[in-house]
Amino acid sequence: MVKKINNPVKIDYVNCIVEDTLKQIKPSLLTTFSDSNSNDNCNNGLDENQKPLNFIKCLLIQIKSTDTPKFLKFIKEYCSADILSRMPHIKRIKKINKQDLLLLLCSLDFLPNILEFEEFLSKKNLHLAYNKPRNDCNSTLEYIDIPEIYPPSKDICSCWSEIYWPMTWRGNPNDQILNDMEYNMTEIKNNLQLICEKSNMKFKEEEEAKVSSKALPVVTLFVNKKTGEAILSTDERHKSRPIDHSIMCGIRDVCAQLSEDGYLCLDYEVYTTHEPCSMCCMALIHSRISRLFYLKDMPKTGCLKNNYHMHSIKPLNSSYHVFQWVNEKIPLAVPNIDPDVCV
Ligand SMILES: [Zn+2]
Repeated sequence: MVKKINNPVKIDYVNCIVEDTLKQIKPSLLTTFSDSNSNDNCNNGLDENQKPLNFIKCLLIQIKSTDTPKFLKFIKEYCSADILSRMPHIKRIKKINKQDLLLLLCSLDFLPNILEFEEFLSKKNLHLAYNKPRNDCNSTLEYIDIPEIYPPSKDICSCWSEIYWPMTWRGNPNDQILNDMEYNMTEIKNNLQLICEKSNMKFKEEEEAKVSSKALPVVTLFVNKKTGEAILSTDERHKSRPIDHSIMCGIRDVCAQLSEDGYLCLDYEVYTTHEPCSMCCMALIHSRISRLFYLKDMPKTGCLKNNYHMHSIKPLNSSYHVFQWVNEKIPLAVPNIDPDVCV
């Protein structure tokens, strides 16, 4: 369960809001589930992104309910090295009727088949009575697939319990993620204030200019968490190449300062005025940043909250955390940009 007491900031775990101002943009799987109706999902089958990707094959036996304590003792004593013993949310037994139970014994990595189990019992001189379970077609059922990962929400947990094997909901893993992070609210606010002021300045310059430079008021700040060094970047596509969005320019500036090999922005957190486009979101994945904070939604072109959730696509081998500042009073309003433009 979540050690909520450890984090000094106020966290609203239900709505994922820190100190009433930072809204976590949740990973896609979790978002899909919190917005959906759980019972319908079970009845109609799970959506593709609600199904577990990988399974663990486990040995299943049928036992008398009166023998349950003996088998649980056996598991505790002999199967502690098995992966199932590190998955306490997976229930071990499932009731068939008043006298009989199905027991999830161990993974096939631990004991590959029922013969090996019998040999194991005989070596240890143990006498435990069991049967091979039978399925609806009355053929024996020795193995069962259980999801490899912990269910990402309570609703998914009840669906998976119904479809695969009974499991217990032990709390939302996202609560732990939120709780484990550090939030220096003064620093976060100051950084967002800085980019917002700079963005307003650029917007004003453009408005007052006799001839438009077509400069976009998008501003980004890269902050090195280890050294405190900060690099400010602006959108430069009007001057140079069309890919010179403020985030791309910022990555390039960070890169220019690096002397060693390694992942580009590993120690950096990113603050940006507008929700980034798919190119920038992807470049940030490649750069291995840890967190991004942004101010203004770009409903058509933004690829964090509004489209794709690119910071948390499962098949990609990296991800980063995203928060949006949701308190409109601080900092200033961020200038509007043509909604069709990628920033
Ligand atoms: Zn971009």
